[in-house]
Parts: sequence; structure tokens; C-alpha cells
Amino acid sequence: MKPIALTGIKPTGNPHIGNYLGMYRPALELMDNYQGMYFVADYHALTTMRDPQTLRGLVYEVAASWLALGLDPEKAIFFRQSDIPEIPEFTWILSCFTSKGLLNRAHAYKDAVDENLANNHDPDEGINAGLFYYPVLMAADILLYGSAVVPVGLDQKQHIEITRDIAEAFNRTYGDVLTVPEGIIQDSVKKVPGLDGRKMSKSYGNVIPIFAPEKQLRKQVMRIVTDSKRPEDPKDPESDNLFNLLQFFASPERLEEIRQLYTNGGAAYGDLKKELAALILEEFAEARRKFDALIADKAYIDQVLDEGAEKARAIARPILAKARKVTGID
Ligand code: AMP
Repeated sequence: MKPIALTGIKPTGNPHIGNYLGMYRPALELMDNYQGMYFVADYHALTTMRDPQTLRGLVYEVAASWLALGLDPEKAIFFRQSDIPEIPEFTWILSCFTSKGLLNRAHAYKDAVDENLANNHDPDEGINAGLFYYPVLMAADILLYGSAVVPVGLDQKQHIEITRDIAEAFNRTYGDVLTVPEGIIQDSVKKVPGLDGRKMSKSYGNVIPIFAPEKQLRKQVMRIVTDSKRPEDPKDPESDNLFNLLQFFASPERLEEIRQLYTNGGAAYGDLKKELAALILEEFAEARRKFDALIADKAYIDQVLDEGAEKARAIARPILAKARKVTGID
């Protein structure tokens, strides 16, 4: 078998352009040289999601997105995280090799604490232990299958480093049991900006969803925040959010023309937003058709995920068995 490339996405909102450029696309491109393992991270979503119907619906949306964007379930192993009962057990074992200080410094938890402190609240107010434990669950996701590489966006870099630390701590005690993975972070993409210029993120509500109805997608693009310069005013393309998004979708020639319009005057934000919306709709036209058909056939999605879970478990079982054996649990 080829070395494994593994990555997942939380079903906490509709997949967006940042997910596509930072994760789906690079992950799917690795399929020639790696055995792809892609999953819907529903246990992770439970740190924030409280409505069961919404969570179930988003699992289907995220699964349909993967398939619509080109995941071939015959080639890749595609599954739902919670269908793998080995995961919670392995998470516990790994947590016993994770220094608590490492988790204190994990950015999702640290950001939540910092926000509480800034508001004069108790540092841990409103923070569930699942959020604190998130990096251990993620380490289990990666290490349970012996993954060699993990394609992710820049925001996940620290979590990969924590996973490596955990694997190394385990291996220091028991020998070379776990594969220490490498993160693959797209240099050209790193962090896709959202409508307001901050990282495009479901939690900031600043996303361009890939599969939103056409009208809604156009409306979102029109909401991209720009300054108050007039079309004839020269502008700096590099510091402009709209330009930064255009560069992911316009052809190199057209991008150069737009760059000239920014520098010399002549770039009208409204027209360029319309152009960006058209480019996005064109880029995803085929995927959007596939998505609509898939989301109407949930039985098919269930079948694909069930088959994927069986394949994933076949890889997971011997690795968990080894971890149990070396630790003396077995
Ligand atoms: P999440 O939506 O947090 O489950 O993230 C799923 C994947 O998409 C992760 O690999 C993230 O690093 C990646 N990702 C999310 N937002 C962005 C963004 N704005 N730019 C680049 N990658 C992103």
C-alpha cells in the first residue's frame, strides 16, 4: 500500500472557499502518490454543536462536498470519524502520553482563555473539556492509521506539531510503534482571507460557501469589505482583500490586467466583485451539479461512508492492538 495521506473536516458549517483551497484541493491532489484517507470529523464538531438535526445535516453536506469535489471512494478511504470505535480508546491511551502543558498552549484553548481574561471572566468559563482535549483526539485521528502526511491549512500547523510530540513521547517509551507524521501546508494558499480580511472561517461568519444557491453566493461576494476609494484612484493590490481573493480564481493574464487597474486607477470594486462571483461559479459549476445530486441521495452517502469505515478500521485495528500490547493493556 502507498503511504497514507489523511485529513478531515469538521461538519460545523457549509464548506467554503478557504476549506477548498487550503485543504480539499491539496488533499485530493495527493491521491496519485498516497493512499488518501479522508473523513468527516463529527466528534470534533461536538465541542461546539448542540443541535442534533443540524449536526446530522452537516455531516451529509460535508460528505457530499468531498464527493462532489472529486473524491473517488474506490480509490480513497472515505469515512465518518464516529464510525471508528477504536478512536476514543486510542485517544485515551495517547492522552496518557500528552503533557498537560502542551494542551494549555494549544491555540484554540488558549484563545478561549485569553478572551475570558480580556473580559474579566474566570479563565475557563464556558470552555468544555472537549475543546481542551481536541489536539489529543486529532492526534488519535492521525496516528491510528499510521498516516505519513497530513495536508492542512496553516491554522492546523500547531496541531500537527502536537501530534508529532505525542507520537515521539510514546515511541520514546515503547520503541518505534507510531509513525511520526509530516504536515503538508500549501505555501501558495496558507490562509485564505474571508469577506472581512480575517481568515475565512465558519466561526467568524465571513465565508464564501462553495455550494450555496447561486443568488446567495453572489450576495456573499458582494459583501467583501473594501475601502472607500473611487474606481479612478490608484490602490495597492497586495493589501486589498478583494484582490487577494481574485488571485485564486482569475487566469494569470487577467490577474495581471487587474493588478494594473489597481496600480494605475480604473479598478471598480463592484465590477470586480461581480467578476469574482462569476469566476467562482464557473470554477465549481460541475461540482455544484454533482453536489445537488448527491445531497438528494443520502442512502448512497451512508453506503459510501459505511464501506469506508470498514476499510479504515482494518488499518486501525492492528495499530491499536500493538499500542495495547506494548503498554500492557492487553
Ligand atoms: P475546519 O473547517 O476548521 O474543519 O478546517 C478544515 C480544513 O480547512 C483544515 O485543514 C483547515 O486548515 C482548512 N482551512 C480552514 N479555513 C481555511 C482558510 N481560511 N484558509 C486555508 N485553509 C483553511
